[in-house]
Amino acid sequence: MTTPARDERSAHGAFVDLHMHSTASDGSLPASEVVEAAARAGLRAMALTDHDTLAGVPEAHRAGERLGVRIVPGVELSAHDDGEVHLLGLHISRPDHLESRLADFREARRTRAERIVQRLNELGLPVTMEGVLEHAGGGAIGRPHVARAIIALGRARDQREAFDRWLGFGKPAYVEKEYLAVRDAIALVHEAGGIAVLAHPGAAGTRAKLGELRGIGLDGVEVRHPSHTAEDIARIGTLAEHFGLLASGGSDWHGASAGQRTIGCMNIPLSWLEKQDAFLRERADRERVA
Ligand code: AMP
Ligand code: MN
Ligand code: MN
Ligand code: MN
Repeated sequence: MTTPARDERSAHGAFVDLHMHSTASDGSLPASEVVEAAARAGLRAMALTDHDTLAGVPEAHRAGERLGVRIVPGVELSAHDDGEVHLLGLHISRPDHLESRLADFREARRTRAERIVQRLNELGLPVTMEGVLEHAGGGAIGRPHVARAIIALGRARDQREAFDRWLGFGKPAYVEKEYLAVRDAIALVHEAGGIAVLAHPGAAGTRAKLGELRGIGLDGVEVRHPSHTAEDIARIGTLAEHFGLLASGGSDWHGASAGQRTIGCMNIPLSWLEKQDAFLRERADRERVA
């Protein structure tokens, strides 16, 4: 056992990244290579948070054990509130309580991709579902896989252009997801033993909104995310303290080829993860007593 003082010293300057994607969803690298990138970046821990799947977690655990990087099992859910909101389930300890629902969400992603492909065909882009599935490589299908099929046709230079011209909200091939209510998404994460963290709220992370979500069981909020302005970070950080919400954050890395973001770029201190650990221990103690 190390003393608390020694833990604090060794934790000084230690960083983690609590939001990352692999080929299990729309990232460009397999989970083991994401962990390798995290190790090269000197991270102590990382959360794998693929969209609607935990499929990359076992592989991440094996790589993490080999490389000395702690893996936090996670998932990113799409939910409906006033518009689309994303919810991270971090520290998932009972994946079996989640899996059948995740399978439903992945099936809805496939049906939606079929509708997007149909729209694109009507717009004169000969994208095929086979092509999209190939880009998805068996993982949870997302619009980035459709974007890769459009790029392969030479109809967009990069993912951003494919979203700007066709796939983004309000664009000609935009198709809504079937949303889960945010309240139900939070409950689902709790059933699976995790903490429910509002992902990248940005300007929507107001006092009123965070207070309301706190009231329906939200445990934490992403304070640091590449999409956040300095003002977002300051406001959401203050509100998290005010409401007793756990702070979280990460790079939302999708692989080096999927944008300019770099792994670990949000400099999330290890102490944020340690606070999440303490929260989970206290919650488990309360549940044992109850
Ligand atoms: P989906 O889960 O199918 O709705 O696709 C959303 C995913 O596409 C996000 O998780 C990001 O990885 C990516 N994405 C969202 N908006 C954009 C954008 N404007 N440009 C490029 N990629 C985006
Ligand atoms: Mn994504
Ligand atoms: Mn997201
Ligand atoms: Mn994400």
